[in-house]
Amino acid sequence: MICNGCYKEVKEGYCLSCRKKLFDKVNVPSILLFDAPKSNNLQFYQEHSKRLSISGVQLKYSLRLENNRLELCENKSQYILKPVPPSKQLEELNDAPENEHLTMQIAEQLFGIETAANGLIHFKDGFPAYITRRFDVQPDGSKYMQEDFAQLTNRTKDTHDESFKYDGSYEEIGLLIKRFVAAAAPALERFFKLVVFNYIVSNGDAHLKNFSLMRIDTGEYKLTPAYDLMSTVIHTPLESDTALDLYKDDADSDFYSTYGYYGRENFMELAGRLRIVEKRAARIIDQFPANQKQIGAFVHRSFLSEEVKEKYISNISDKISRIRQ
Ligand SMILES: [Zn+2]
Repeated sequence: MICNGCYKEVKEGYCLSCRKKLFDKVNVPSILLFDAPKSNNLQFYQEHSKRLSISGVQLKYSLRLENNRLELCENKSQYILKPVPPSKQLEELNDAPENEHLTMQIAEQLFGIETAANGLIHFKDGFPAYITRRFDVQPDGSKYMQEDFAQLTNRTKDTHDESFKYDGSYEEIGLLIKRFVAAAAPALERFFKLVVFNYIVSNGDAHLKNFSLMRIDTGEYKLTPAYDLMSTVIHTPLESDTALDLYKDDADSDFYSTYGYYGRENFMELAGRLRIVEKRAARIIDQFPANQKQIGAFVHRSFLSEEVKEKYISNISDKISRIRQ
């Protein structure tokens, strides 16, 4: 079988390298000791997670490693567990956990984007869930200070409205990275690559709260590993291509006003505004068409349903044709 973390051949569960990243080498089985949340066991879930956080329709649960097994917990959580979301309005929801796992793995393995450690896991009753390790928790349990870009730009429900996290641009995030991050140039290139990546994989939900800075031991700020990456268009087909504008008035650009979507020149313009060297920006963009086949191979190896695999690949090929030289 293949590893539930990185898709490499393995006897069972997770390979050694994924065990190291996710569980500090502890041999954690890829099947949980409890069932997925459903109407007859909600009490069990509520007892163990008094502070359920609902971001959109996705429920998240906290887990902690206790005696080599993962358990639901209220505090001192080390992992976040995302089961199949309980919505009837979205499409292909049974594939949501694997969509996120696959997209995170493509980001890391094919494009070298630093991501939160993650994997697929199953409940006792067979339902899948996405599991990710919290990067803000230090080995001794204390937490790194972390702020997302809604916080950093002082946007809340009260100052703006319900859609506050969609109100902004990637240029704005980039300019703040420049201001706060000591090693700004590499951080900006990383950020730019992530913005292009999200476009290519059709992640239309990369909003202000899906990018964060954290303060490391030296007191400096750095961009956190990437998280919440998935091909959201699989579940919300009518969603716009990006959660935020690339930059102010980008819709007036020649390319956008001609085609109605972003093309290579819009991403190059964003890079220019962030003072990323033109050649380097072009090289970042060109990585995506150059790896199109490899992306397809990853998708085929994944645990997605055949139908969703086809959709995933066809969306990628559309997006790549838009940014190709
Ligand atoms: Zn692995």
